[in-house]
Amino acid sequence: MPISEDTFLALDIGGTNVKSGLISRAGEILSFDSFPTSKWGGPEALIDMIIRQLKTLWNDSDTAHRPRALAIGAPGWILRREGVVVMAPNIPGWKALPITRLMSEALDIPAVLENDANLYALGEWLIGAGKGCANEITLTLGTGVGGGLILEGRLWEGAFTSAAEVGHIPLGGVNRLCGCGRTGCLETVASAIGMAAIAREWLAAGRETLYKGDPAAVDTREMLRLAGLGDPMSLSIFSDAGKAIGFVLAGVFNLLGLQMAVIGGGGAGAFDFMAPGIMEVLSRHLVTAGVDQIQVVKGALGGNAPLIGAAAFLNESGY
Ligand SMILES: [Zn+2]
Repeated sequence: MPISEDTFLALDIGGTNVKSGLISRAGEILSFDSFPTSKWGGPEALIDMIIRQLKTLWNDSDTAHRPRALAIGAPGWILRREGVVVMAPNIPGWKALPITRLMSEALDIPAVLENDANLYALGEWLIGAGKGCANEITLTLGTGVGGGLILEGRLWEGAFTSAAEVGHIPLGGVNRLCGCGRTGCLETVASAIGMAAIAREWLAAGRETLYKGDPAAVDTREMLRLAGLGDPMSLSIFSDAGKAIGFVLAGVFNLLGLQMAVIGGGGAGAFDFMAPGIMEVLSRHLVTAGVDQIQVVKGALGGNAPLIGAAAFLNESGY
């Protein structure tokens, strides 16, 4: 099929998989590739593999519409303007890595860097569950909890290009230790790691549950299956996660007058079990609008949302 518009390359570097795509300006994925992050030993081998993957996609592109630029989504602590991954906790050896310069030199096109959760939010805003909504927030429930904020139809970067760290908004009365070293972050009760830790405590206390496996192996995937069977442990943990998300959203909605929250990431599989808790808290604490005037919806794009969001980010960046 002929490509009738500009194309870009998009790269989403995750702790589990590295995904890349040839995308259109409208956010359509024209060609896609993925490989497991852990398969490639040291940092140099991983970079080489990523470059090979992107060159393959380049060769897939229509000769009349070669990719104009590359957008890179990365987890962890990044310096967006400098194009540097300062530290990615899930990718061993990636420290102070000048990723945009390395990629730009290898591919001979401009490259830009953005937080992966921000690209995810842009994807849902461009063509996903948040399409056309000018003021919204996307939460990504994964190993941790990420977020991306769209205000007046643009991604909000904040003064330090690290805005919308929703996962580390503190919850009063929660004293759980977060991976960031602080206590009480939303992530400690709404991420995959946080919910599994709470499940292990439930099991250690001998409380009622349908889970009969190794306590050390309990995870949110199994909890999701059991919740569907009425498991009190899984239902309670998902409900509590929903309420915690509700309190954070109440604060964010009341501050910014948002119209919508999109819940994405792998944890959004439990959306139906979390939504009643989210809406119950919002119905009590929302003051900027009636609860019937706002929407909290499940993400529509799944794991490819950051690649799609890369198109919106490159648009915003002037490419
Ligand atoms: Zn934290």
